[in-house]
Amino acid sequence: MKDIHIKCYVCVHVFEDTRPVLLVSRPDGDWCFLCGADHANNANAYRVVGIGHVLENDISIDDVMDLKPDWEAERKDIKSDWIRTPIID
Ligand SMILES: [Zn+2]
Repeated sequence: MKDIHIKCYVCVHVFEDTRPVLLVSRPDGDWCFLCGADHANNANAYRVVGIGHVLENDISIDDVMDLKPDWEAERKDIKSDWIRTPIID
């Protein structure tokens, strides 16, 4: 099991629980849990939380907790399977 105190980034929608996590991204090994919508490219659109907070809100995210650095996983909706792809700049 992951250390639930690992810091991760969430978008404001996930933070405020207004949209589900549909995109998990690991740029440079960081964990980002995002709704998949467009966000302003600045810090105001994101929050830093402990990873356990994200996992306890949505158990289906547990399926991608073995995601490797510089990969991302996306799903159409919370009932769809995760589709993993390498992050390409
Ligand atoms: Zn969002």
